[in-house]
Amino acid sequence: MDTGTDGLGGRFRGALLGVAAGDALGAPFEGRPRVEPASVDAWARADQPLRRTDDTLMTLGLARSLLACRGFDGAHMAATFAEDHAAQPWRGYGAGPPRIFAALRAGVPWDEAARGLFGGGGSFGNGAPMRVAPVGLVHHGDPGGAARLAGRTASVTHAHELGRQGAALQAAAVAWLVDATAPPSRDRLVDAVRAAAPAQEFQDRLDALEGIPPGWPPERVAARLGNGIEAFQSVPAALHAFLRHPGSLTRAVCHAVTLGGDTDTIAAMTGALAGAALGATAVPGSWRSRLEDADRLEHLADDLLAWSRTWRSPTTTGGDQR
Ligand SMILES: [Mg+2]
Repeated sequence: MDTGTDGLGGRFRGALLGVAAGDALGAPFEGRPRVEPASVDAWARADQPLRRTDDTLMTLGLARSLLACRGFDGAHMAATFAEDHAAQPWRGYGAGPPRIFAALRAGVPWDEAARGLFGGGGSFGNGAPMRVAPVGLVHHGDPGGAARLAGRTASVTHAHELGRQGAALQAAAVAWLVDATAPPSRDRLVDAVRAAAPAQEFQDRLDALEGIPPGWPPERVAARLGNGIEAFQSVPAALHAFLRHPGSLTRAVCHAVTLGGDTDTIAAMTGALAGAALGATAVPGSWRSRLEDADRLEHLADDLLAWSRTWRSPTTTGGDQR
């Protein structure tokens, strides 16, 4: 049993370690329609390094930008993402972000570049929710504030309303779970975050979460919620994976990978939720020692906590200025 009851600092660290662990554990299976649980277990017990992909890299970039600017600065965040991509373009980025980064280099303003994708509608992929855990952390206990800031950070790359709502939903869930008593109930979590994503695509799947029996196999869950790159599929899938095993980060993350599809991102988001709820002690030592730059993730988590304490208290609401 890896249930953790860490304090605030441990939960901040747990969320970022959870993102990285889920990302790296899911990465080898990305794109497979179906993943055998035995394959995931074998990879979880292996001793090879756990390499991050764009999910963790952009989470790090988002956190660094928030800290550097002491809040959201779209131009700075866009430049940070673009610099990180230029340094390591082989980290598994999707097709959209590199086009945005090219537009930025060509002089297109940051708040116009993302709107240029998909015929002017913007992306509703899961690139914004996959990186948004730091927003939920600094707004812990304040899902509404987390959702508002998440929407702003999403607009850097995901201008479509469904992309923004996906980020808002994931950030609100992290924010609520950091301050929740572990393990939380499904109904209380869903009630706390439902307002963050009012679109029918999300509301239908949040309703569906309540009707998924504990015994459903992964492929049936994936058929019900979806496991694709669309934010409205993968964010609810991550919520499901966490709620299937709310007391165990390892089991939640491994279950997320068995859902198939966009496995690294679904597992990264599941890891964020489980880490926020259970803390860093829920990340097994065997995983932590395999993780790339685990120390750096923990230092960033500590810096986020220190910064959030300078402008808010646990009872703060709002926080639109951030
Ligand atoms: Mg990835």
